[in-house]
Amino acid sequence: MRALLWFRNDLRLEDHRILSSIASEAEVLLCVFVDNPDTYRVTDLGFPKTGAHRRRFLLQTLAELDQQLRSLGQRLLVAEGQPAAVIRTLCQEHNITHVYCSREVTTEELQDEAAVAEAISPLPLHRFWDRTLIHPADLPFHIDNLPDVFTSFRKAVEKRWSVRPMYPRPTVLPAPPAMDFPEVSSVALPQECGAFPFSGGPTSAMRHLHDYIHTRQLIRTYKDTRNGLIGAEYSSKFSPWLSVGSLSPRTIYYAVREHEATYGANDSTYWLIFELLWRDFFRFTAARHGAVLFHRWSLRGEGPVWRRDRDAFDHWRNGTTSDDFVDANMRELFATGWMSNRGRQNVASYLSKTLGIDWRWGAAWFESMLLDYDPCSNYGNWAYVAGVGNDPRSSYRVFNTQKQAQTYDAAGAFRRLWL
Ligand SMILES: Cc1cc2nc3c(=O)[nH]c(=O)nc-3n(C[C@H](O)[C@H](O)[C@H](O)COP(=O)(O)OP(=O)(O)OC[C@H]3O[C@@H](n4cnc5c(N)ncnc54)[C@H](O)[C@@H]3O)c2cc1C
Repeated sequence: MRALLWFRNDLRLEDHRILSSIASEAEVLLCVFVDNPDTYRVTDLGFPKTGAHRRRFLLQTLAELDQQLRSLGQRLLVAEGQPAAVIRTLCQEHNITHVYCSREVTTEELQDEAAVAEAISPLPLHRFWDRTLIHPADLPFHIDNLPDVFTSFRKAVEKRWSVRPMYPRPTVLPAPPAMDFPEVSSVALPQECGAFPFSGGPTSAMRHLHDYIHTRQLIRTYKDTRNGLIGAEYSSKFSPWLSVGSLSPRTIYYAVREHEATYGANDSTYWLIFELLWRDFFRFTAARHGAVLFHRWSLRGEGPVWRRDRDAFDHWRNGTTSDDFVDANMRELFATGWMSNRGRQNVASYLSKTLGIDWRWGAAWFESMLLDYDPCSNYGNWAYVAGVGNDPRSSYRVFNTQKQAQTYDAAGAFRRLWL
């Protein structure tokens, strides 16, 4: 078998379902990442769909993945273009017999999958689900019956925990086809790296996981610190690696369980897994509801008439509103590509509820800026905070940003840092 693995948001060797199963079966393996210029295009709102922070993180990730593959005699081909055209050409040039990729659930990603499947026909595109902690086949309900409210989802899942074992990291890989592989070059960290002073890539991800859970054991106090605003330590900071798949949720889960086996479980170790279930919930929600997630009233199907006030939006975006807590968070995002969860909830509520501006503009700005952008978590959380998610209770909740600042930034240190 001559296999092609189309790497997408599964940029790792650890716990990689497809790699682990084809490692011993293929005679030749071509590992490809398609760098699609469409993902960098300037949107109707006048800023790029993927901004410089996430681009840098991706380049670091690809360089580290290539290093890991090289240590097993493999290489990563980073090819620019549309996935369908690139993969069709590679299949023809290298007599590929089997093509594999991980499954995504959102509109643009599904369009890519469909286009690739068509372009390589009659070769089939083998797609595997590998993005969630719980495999959908192991859920206690069919995905069409996914509860609308997170708590019901969580309780049902926790009643019957079922996390699949990790897939072994391959120790040998089939050789790549004979061809030239351009160098995969990385980009250094920016000067302003704020609360996320880490590099992209699967090696950095595993180092940080080990440090957070085993060496420094910050996990033991996670529940008390997670609403923090300053520094690298208040929350796990796993999200950017999770988004590109340099870290799998199973890897985190089993690291936490290993820690608990030695030091005991506590509220904090539980809470980190609880948060991973939120991530699963948003991905399953996107899988169940499809493109409607991105509509103006998203999953609710009704809601306010959103304002499209460009001036107010730009003030929000640039951190020049009359609200210093919102501004500090927005400036942190712009400077570093990072914002705390507390900050995200406040600025999203401020834009959609206080200013009444179309939440999708805010979500698009986050998409451009965030290091950890993930379509399901981003649009899912935005819709939820804007009151058009699937949980009806979310429509009444408005964050009082000044009260939040008093609670979470009482001494004003966070605002002084960014204003
Ligand atoms: C408006 C808005 C937009 C968001 N956009 C994104 C996004 O694009 N990508 C993204 O990964 N997260 C997003 N989040 C969720 C959350 O803010 C981040 O996951 C979290 O801040 C990442 O920091 P951490 O890894 O230190 O999280 P921790 O607090 O250490 O949590 C551990 C992990 O649990 C998951 N998690 C935690 N909270 C949530 C949540 N509310 N929804 C989904 N997963 C969660 C993440 O994978 C996170 O890495 C958004 C939240 C809001 C309110």
